[in-house]
Amino acid sequence: MTATPANETTPVTVKTVGFVGLGNMGGPMAANLVKAGHRVTGFDLVPEAVEAAAKAGVRPAASAAEAVADADLVFTMLPTGRHVLDLYTDGGLLAAARPGTLFVDSSTIDVADARAAHEAARAAGHRALDAPVSGGVFGAEAATLTFMAGGDAAEFAEAEPVLAGMGRKTVHCGPAGAGQAAKICNNMILGISMIAISEAFVLGESLGLSQQAMFDVASTSSGQCWALTVNCPVPGPVPASPANRDYRPGFSAPLMAKDLRLAANAIRAGGVDAALGLRAAELYTAFAEGRGAEEDFSGIFRVIRDNSGQPAEGEHA
Ligand code: NAD
Repeated sequence: MTATPANETTPVTVKTVGFVGLGNMGGPMAANLVKAGHRVTGFDLVPEAVEAAAKAGVRPAASAAEAVADADLVFTMLPTGRHVLDLYTDGGLLAAARPGTLFVDSSTIDVADARAAHEAARAAGHRALDAPVSGGVFGAEAATLTFMAGGDAAEFAEAEPVLAGMGRKTVHCGPAGAGQAAKICNNMILGISMIAISEAFVLGESLGLSQQAMFDVASTSSGQCWALTVNCPVPGPVPASPANRDYRPGFSAPLMAKDLRLAANAIRAGGVDAALGLRAAELYTAFAEGRGAEEDFSGIFRVIRDNSGQPAEGEHA
């Protein structure tokens, strides 16, 4: 069966989708699957999340098992690998699905947990894909996420048209766990580069360089990167960056700390000489557990500036 979604011109093959985890990301993702023409049944432990999804056309289920009973594909969008593995096994999700169901986990989890999830799905007679996302809540709402997938080519080919209803780019990164590997490597780059940009602004200030001059040079020179040109950690040069709204997220510091801890686990497990990745995980964990608990990850700039004993720009005596 095919249908033409309201916001698209290309017909899609309608799938029956079970969606478990309707939080900040999963809620709008499930809503976009409905918009793309799929039959979506959803469940979350939080009743308000189920109610919000139901308003967007998701059929509410009374349990996770009920959400997946008739599904062709099952999406999970849960906090951690422990949540995914517990739900798959003890929570009865794998047992509740029809044989051969494609389980797509889009949560950001440990590579080892992702591989264990693939194994558990296969052992229960199903198929699996890890497909974490980049793009945040805004991307989830606007259906502009990037999906990084790990698993067999056949499973990727089957999931890709469905993922297209929630994102604008999907990359098949390799076998089981490769999607999660790509996700944590990318976010390790982002965390390190945000610290580097913040340190450069503070060092520049200490040398008498204005933030605007530093931005104008670095954004058009070899220091150019997303942390500077899109998510600039100082107010002013990039009006849409969280620094201009008192560092309200955006991409929250606790989520960055979580992703960097996943990277640090993998660094240690693999014996990789990644000194900056490990240090970034320490710095972001401390920030997220302190004043950054509610802030965008770019707020680490203020910690670096305060630790350096420098006043905010414009506050110089
Ligand atoms: P969230 O906490 O808003 O949503 C998770 C949801 O899972 C919650 O609503 C929770 O009630 C539900 N849940 C937990 N256990 C459950 C269970 N057993 N059955 C049913 N529902 C259950 O988190 P989020 O921001 O939506 O993030 C989800 C995942 O996506 C995380 O792994 C996160 O790291 C990743 N991610 C988040 C962002 C972001 O910007 N928020 C960006 C990229 C990736």
